[in-house]
Amino acid sequence: MRRTLYLKFLVAYLIFGFFGFIIVATFVYNMTEDHFKKETAEAMYQEANMIAGSYASDLYQNQTSLDAVKNQIDGLAAYTGNIIWIINPSGRMVLDSSSDIDVSTPKYISGFNPTITKGSYYTIGTFFQSFDQDVISVFAPITYNYKVQGYVVIHQTMEDISYRTNKVLNISYIMLVILFVLSLIILIFFTEVVYIPLRKITEATEQYASGNMHYEFSVESEDEMGYLAASLNYMASEIAKTEDNQKKFVANVSHDFRSPLTSIKGYLEAMIDGTIPPELHDKYLHIVLNETDRLTKLTNSLLTLNNLNMRGVILEKSVFDLNQVIRNVAMSFEGTCNAKSIQIKLELTGDEMPVLADMSKIQQVLYNLLDNAIKFSHHNSSIKIETVERKNKVFTSVKDYGIGIPKDDLKLVFDRFYKSDLSRGKDKKGTGLGLSITKEIIQAHEEHINVISTEGVGTEFIFSLPVAEDNHD
Ligand code: ATP
Ligand code: MG
Repeated sequence: MRRTLYLKFLVAYLIFGFFGFIIVATFVYNMTEDHFKKETAEAMYQEANMIAGSYASDLYQNQTSLDAVKNQIDGLAAYTGNIIWIINPSGRMVLDSSSDIDVSTPKYISGFNPTITKGSYYTIGTFFQSFDQDVISVFAPITYNYKVQGYVVIHQTMEDISYRTNKVLNISYIMLVILFVLSLIILIFFTEVVYIPLRKITEATEQYASGNMHYEFSVESEDEMGYLAASLNYMASEIAKTEDNQKKFVANVSHDFRSPLTSIKGYLEAMIDGTIPPELHDKYLHIVLNETDRLTKLTNSLLTLNNLNMRGVILEKSVFDLNQVIRNVAMSFEGTCNAKSIQIKLELTGDEMPVLADMSKIQQVLYNLLDNAIKFSHHNSSIKIETVERKNKVFTSVKDYGIGIPKDDLKLVFDRFYKSDLSRGKDKKGTGLGLSITKEIIQAHEEHINVISTEGVGTEFIFSLPVAEDNHD
């Protein structure tokens, strides 16, 4: 399975080589042979016409002797390597460059017919069975007194043409081999650029599929392959992080569930077996009640998050006064603030700030942000809640001067179950779900939430909401 791509490419390469060979062996051969045939025939035809117009016509006009013509023609034939004949229209051989003149036994070309060339100026064959192998023949008529007196026929064996064709064919084969070897570069290139990175990527995906999200690999190329590998690496590391967070969360949740349950169990047992005297029952039942509150909070947070996470969060949007909601939420924290001597300062734009949103969910957002701000503030400090209106949006900021968030943790604070190490000492009850719920709510409104923080200095969360235009004056 893993090797099929390479195999396919190799097969394509071999097919390329095979067809290259077939094409050279057929088309190239035929084309070259055709070319040489025409070239040879043309030269022979010119020669035949020349003979027909000079020595041969002299012969028929009795201006020269047969022997003299024979001499001339023999010389020409020896020079060109051809066989030259002069024959009568009846087929009787008058002169043959390849044999001596024998007047006593005249030779006839039986069945001689000058139309054998069928419109072309040459013919290939045994020329009326005169040869035992194929020859290329051309002929030119000898005219005298407006009558065809005979023909000059020139033959050449096919050997020379075959020899020359094969020579060209051999050159073509060498070129083909060179091309084939050169195209190996493509194969090597493919292996280096596509195949090896692809194998690394496939191997990595197998590792990821089997659950090894920490598997790392590198493809050092700055093309699509490199990009794909980097994206895959990044994706795996993100999944690994989420997995780690999930594990941490399960550990946290188990811990958070176990400690209240242990104390509830302990107090109840002590009450039953009398370790705690009945007059103190009231006090300890309140502690037990507090612990169950913690458990309820944890369960509720988990349920809220689950509901928000399901597709299509249904928001019950209405127009309400954001300023009033902020005041109410701030008021509900009065007790906690007094206990820590924290002052909440409100700097709200306008008397009223009508927004179009889900009121109870925005209340929860403010509750979560303020809860965090107070939790992570030092004693005797302040918290500022500010609203600013800009381009039909209202930006609400909740700013504290508390412990701050380490730079590396900033992008994680909205992750579920995330709690910075810094905050653990300050807040043992937190589930690490508050901000992820907050973010889900703001995103469901198609708005944004951001955080600015400096460790040891303070933290500011800012979220936006749409201003309800119609009711705003
Ligand atoms: P829960 O809100 O469920 O009680 P939590 O407050 O720990 O638990 P989040 O509200 O999601 O959980 O906050 C996540 C973490 O982000 C906190 O544990 C803390 O480390 C950090 N954080 C949030 N707000 C602040 C802040 N105002 N100052 C400093 N750190 C903060
Ligand atoms: Mg919180």
